[in-house]
This record gives sequence, C-alpha cells and structure tokens, in this order.
Amino acid sequence: MSDELIEKISKLKKEKKAVVLAHNYQRSEIQDVADAVGDSIELSRRAVEIDAKLVVFSAVDFMAQSAAILNPDKEVVIPRAGARCPMAQMLTPEVVEAYRRRYPSLPLVVYVNSLAETKALADICCTSANAVKVVESLNSDRVLFGPDRNLAEYVASRTGKEVIPVPEWGFCPVHVMYDSKCVEEARAAHPDAVFMAHPECPPEVLEKADYVGSTSQMVRYAKQSSALKFVVATEVGLLHRLRKENPSKRFFPAVEDALCVNMKANRLLDVVECLAGGGHRVVVEPKVAERARKALEKMFEVS
Ligand code: SF4
Repeated sequence: MSDELIEKISKLKKEKKAVVLAHNYQRSEIQDVADAVGDSIELSRRAVEIDAKLVVFSAVDFMAQSAAILNPDKEVVIPRAGARCPMAQMLTPEVVEAYRRRYPSLPLVVYVNSLAETKALADICCTSANAVKVVESLNSDRVLFGPDRNLAEYVASRTGKEVIPVPEWGFCPVHVMYDSKCVEEARAAHPDAVFMAHPECPPEVLEKADYVGSTSQMVRYAKQSSALKFVVATEVGLLHRLRKENPSKRFFPAVEDALCVNMKANRLLDVVECLAGGGHRVVVEPKVAERARKALEKMFEVS
C-alpha cells in the first residue's frame, strides 16, 4: 500500500471524524488501515465506545446492521451493499414463525449471524463465543437455535440439552469445506501444530480438533499458548491477524481456499470511497431495531 494512500485515509478519517472497523475475515489491506479488527459483536461494542460520527463497518450485512442497532446516534456505512452473508439469509422471519407454531413453548436462540428482522423475533441472541453459556442460562432443556446447524450440534454436545436447529439445514458455505480428511492431512503435514477449529465446522472436525473457539477466542488462545505452530480451520482472513500479532509463531490454513467471497466483496478502495462520503448507509427500521437490541442486550447480560 502506498504512503500516499495511507496518508489520504488518515486525513479523511480526521476530516469526517470517522473510524474504520474491520472484521477478522476482511482483506489484509483493509485490516491494516482499520482502527479496530475483531469479531462482529466486539466491533459493534467498540463503536459504542469510540467518539466518532461516521463508522465504516467493513464486513457483511448482518454485522453492519448490529453496529447500527447498537449505535443509533452514529452513521454506519458498509463499503459494498452486495456483501451479504448467505447463512444469515437462511433464517427468514417466515421460517422462525413456522418453528414457533410447531414448538410454541420453546425459547428461540438466534446466532448473531442473522438479519435484524430475525434477531427481532429471538428470545435471546448468541455469538459463537458465548452460545454454550447462553443456552445453559435458559430455563429449558429444549431450545430452538438458528441458523447454523453445526453450531447447534456443538452447543448440544456441550450442554447436554436438546438443541433443535432452525432451519434443519442452515450452514456457512466456508466452514462446511472442512472435513476429517483435511484434519488428517494437516496432522500429517504439521505434526507438531495445534489444530484450531471454529464451531461452525462440521462435528467430525470439531471432534478431532485440539481447540474449538470463535475467531476472538482463537486469537486469545494462540497468544497465550506456548505452542509455536497452529493449523486454523476458519476463513483464511483470520490468518493475517494471527500472524501479525504473533510474529514468532506460524499459522497454516487447514484449507487454503477457505475464503468467504461475501466478506471479500469489500475492497480497500471501497473503504476509501466510504470515508470520502460514499458507501451504503445501514438503516434498520426503528421497531425492528428496538426488538433486536433487546435480544442482543439479553445476551450481553448473560455473557
Ligand atoms: S464466513 Fe460464513 S458466516 Fe461468515 S459471512 Fe461468510 S458465509 Fe457468512
């Protein structure tokens, strides 16, 4: 990246009283100019603390919506309107209503990887980092959980509760790329490495992993661990941050092309465009925002 571009970005940030927040899966050049890099909820909460008028949220649609919901006094913009998470689209309000009718007495836990309209229908939200804790906190041995089926199964295995996936088949197209074979191949190629996996991976991968955690948990674990080599089973964008923050350690992707095209839709020049007054303003209908905020706040109380 040229010095000229770096200077332009920092000048625009000052002029517009803006911050750039980038998800762990963003392109490395965007992570490098961001004021903070993290998971979606970490960033949304960071936006609350930061004194800024404009928040450029470089991530996918549902993440920028959460930032807008938690920061109603700030202008939140997303670099590319087309950066939409396919998993979030799998749990529509209509699907939720159908399951509510089928299981009227069960609480509904909605993973933050969902649209605002769906969060608004949840009893409580969860992240991949606190899903186990959230489900444990509910006074029910049976819960509805969506949209990620693998995360639902992981939570069931950790809590002993019956976790009913909503819909039955929800998945992240990136994390379903991992399987037992890739774990075995990684073990053969890097026998002394710790295998870390995201809980959106299939159960066969999680059973074989040395460590299971969200992106923020992986970042903390890698920092604190005495191990020097890690194989990482999550979107490859996280490796940039892991390598940058742990220069003496080595990180290998479990699958080289585990790349989220939706996350990668945002480019550095789109971020610059946002700072210059472009981008796409994220607006959530006030009633939807209010109900979604309540489900998010319940999660914060638990976690
Ligand atoms: S990595 Fe998966 S869950 Fe995350 S934005 Fe991409 S498709 Fe959605």
